[in-house]
Amino acid sequence: MANNYFVDRQGFYGPFGGAYVPEILYKCVHDLQDAYLPVIESDSFREEYESLLKDYVGRPSPLYYARRMSEKYGCRLYLKREDLNHTGAHKINNTVGQILLAKRLGKTRIIAETGAGQHGVATATVCALMDMQCEIFMGKTDVERQHTNVERMRMLGATVHPVLTGNMTLSDACSEAIRDWCCHPKDTFYIVGSTMGPHPYPDIVARMQSVISSEIKWQLREKTGRDYPDYLIACVGGGSNAAGTVYHYVDDERVRIVLAEAGGAGIHTGRTAATMHCGTEGIIHGARTLVMQTPDGQIEEAFTISAGLDYPGIGPMHANMARAGREQVLAVNDDEAIYAGYELTRMEGIIPAIESAHAVAALKKMTFRPDDIVVLTVSGRGDKDVETYLKNKSLAKEYGQF
Ligand SMILES: *Cc1c(COP(=O)(O)O)cnc(C)c1O
Repeated sequence: MANNYFVDRQGFYGPFGGAYVPEILYKCVHDLQDAYLPVIESDSFREEYESLLKDYVGRPSPLYYARRMSEKYGCRLYLKREDLNHTGAHKINNTVGQILLAKRLGKTRIIAETGAGQHGVATATVCALMDMQCEIFMGKTDVERQHTNVERMRMLGATVHPVLTGNMTLSDACSEAIRDWCCHPKDTFYIVGSTMGPHPYPDIVARMQSVISSEIKWQLREKTGRDYPDYLIACVGGGSNAAGTVYHYVDDERVRIVLAEAGGAGIHTGRTAATMHCGTEGIIHGARTLVMQTPDGQIEEAFTISAGLDYPGIGPMHANMARAGREQVLAVNDDEAIYAGYELTRMEGIIPAIESAHAVAALKKMTFRPDDIVVLTVSGRGDKDVETYLKNKSLAKEYGQF
């Protein structure tokens, strides 16, 4: 039997996924499960969504042939430039779609969690666009670390709620957003930022991001004469830019998929965010998936230099594909990501988000044939990470002498 890597009727990807939510959210989540497909497959939704992707987000994002990096790695490397989107990353593809869904479901109040603040900014942006009330939950540690993004959200009209529980980071912000949702199930729509959370969120987010691979198809055909690559490479936090990158290639066995998760200080150091290397089965934020947890089921804190990959879980779609061998997962450590970020900057004139630099670093761990076509998604731009790069420039000695 062929594998089915997409969500089934019950909301599962193999053994992973589902919707493990408190009683009070049951109706809310159930209504969304019933409503989301008819809405997002309707002509009026597609029309409005596609028009906003084009004129507001700035799509299609370019597929750029990276000549110098291709020579260096001995392959034909194309970069999918999600860094050029409005607000600087792929996250806006998803928030534009979800706010249109929220509007069609008659919701008036938007909530969202955020770690680095990228999803918070992307959510606050579409709330300004649609004139909706916007409440963002963000761990206090992240509020302090990512101050510019907090100010951007406030400028866009959102209220930012610093979360004081747990480690005061992304995982705690998710829990707090779910708590708020429980108090306002009727009027509130929760815009989830990645392919995580209870069914149908992983599927909603994957569909919203799938525009990435539908563009790769025609762009590759235009540039190379065939519409599939030999390799797709993307970084994974919760898994949304990766899901978008692979979506239309999942069943095409000619295409090998390589994901880069954040190794932090290293997968054997205990200071890591490499969930697919170090996690075990458990439930986090409404889904059964791989989770970094203690033997008695307490969620462990994730460590990585990259605030956007700092999550102790992983979307159920990727947990399933990785286990089935459809996706190969590499752990990329902080120092490797920093180096790769400098390398892309100096060789192509593109400063990538530190998250995206993890994907770039995967190139070094792979071997190619000269005619291999490789598509690597640059999920976001590195403006927000300049300080981090500078602080760590000693890790990129060839490039860091300035
Ligand atoms: C949030 C973020 C990520 C990680 O999230 P995914 O859902 O795994 O894509 C990666 N890159 C950038 C630039 C981000 O902002």
